[in-house]
Amino acid sequence: MTKSQWIKDLQQIVAPSQLRVDEPLHLYTMTKLGGNADIFVLPETIEQAQQIVAYAHARNVPLLMLGNGSNMVVRDGGLRGIVITFSALDAIRVEGITVYAEAGALIKDVSKQAAAASLTGFEFACGIPGSIGGAMAMNAGAYGGEINDIIVSSTVLTKEGEIITLSKEALKLGYRTSSIATEGYYVLSSIFELAKGDQQAIDEKIADLTHQRETKQPLEFPSAGSVFKRPPGQFAGKLIQDSGLQGKGVGGAEVSTKHAGFIVNKGGATATDYIQTIEMVQRVVKEKFGVSLEREVKIVGDEK
Ligand code: FAD
Repeated sequence: MTKSQWIKDLQQIVAPSQLRVDEPLHLYTMTKLGGNADIFVLPETIEQAQQIVAYAHARNVPLLMLGNGSNMVVRDGGLRGIVITFSALDAIRVEGITVYAEAGALIKDVSKQAAAASLTGFEFACGIPGSIGGAMAMNAGAYGGEINDIIVSSTVLTKEGEIITLSKEALKLGYRTSSIATEGYYVLSSIFELAKGDQQAIDEKIADLTHQRETKQPLEFPSAGSVFKRPPGQFAGKLIQDSGLQGKGVGGAEVSTKHAGFIVNKGGATATDYIQTIEMVQRVVKEKFGVSLEREVKIVGDEK
């Protein structure tokens, strides 16, 4: 089946404004890198999402789920098939101590709304730039908190397009992993349970965490956050710093001089520069310390 047939078929599911052809993905990734998606589709209802996923599965069309693009590097050749994003499914509701959020809602916004309702437990996420879907897939966490601490359940689409609800146990949330990532589920929404807290303490915690991020992270440059997972008993940033790699890189990509765990796009970087910088860091750290740094960031797409 050809790309033009996929387009015709998807036009039966979504409106023209929800379907883009040869869409540049650097517009949707926080590294500001990456080639084009053959087809980029933005469902506005759960039914549309379900039909697109079922269609891709039935016709064997490659389908990639993009959240807010904060943990993903798309190669310069872009992505074949369909890229889907749930950014239009972004409802957030707070009821008592329960928070319901759709996959496309930004985790920062969910954290903010929980805080506004004097709920404690979501402060850790106030500066994480991902969506709820991406945060579920990655079990996002920071400053001693993570999704696993507050999740009740998540409603997902299976690869076949069936809607199922996964309990906390079935989500198998581990260090930057989950059954969503391993089984290839598509998150539609999640339910979190928090606790009533003291408004002043919640506000102070958020202000403190925001200050820590702003002073320690190179937020002034495009990046994908911490590139590597924490090796057991070590810190990736410290190993990279001690390898003398800060300020080094390939082309427009550079190991941040502010936080060695970040690789930034200083301007004009290609995805190839970024990926070669990742590989250079892995090689040097392995040579110096014998530690194999495992990537946290996802790399997808074709070489140019
Ligand atoms: P994307 O990057 O778009 O995708 C990541 C993965 O999730 C992909 O495999 C994608 O297919 C999958 N995915 C996305 N949406 C869905 C969905 N609906 N259903 C199924 N799978 C889905 N992370 C932390 O954990 N802690 C931090 O403190 C932190 N700080 C960061 C700071 C900066 C400046 C940046 C740029 C990133 C940081 N990150 C951090 C990384 C990133 O924000 C998180 O991993 C986030 O959870 C990714 O969400 P996303 O929506 O951007 O996902």
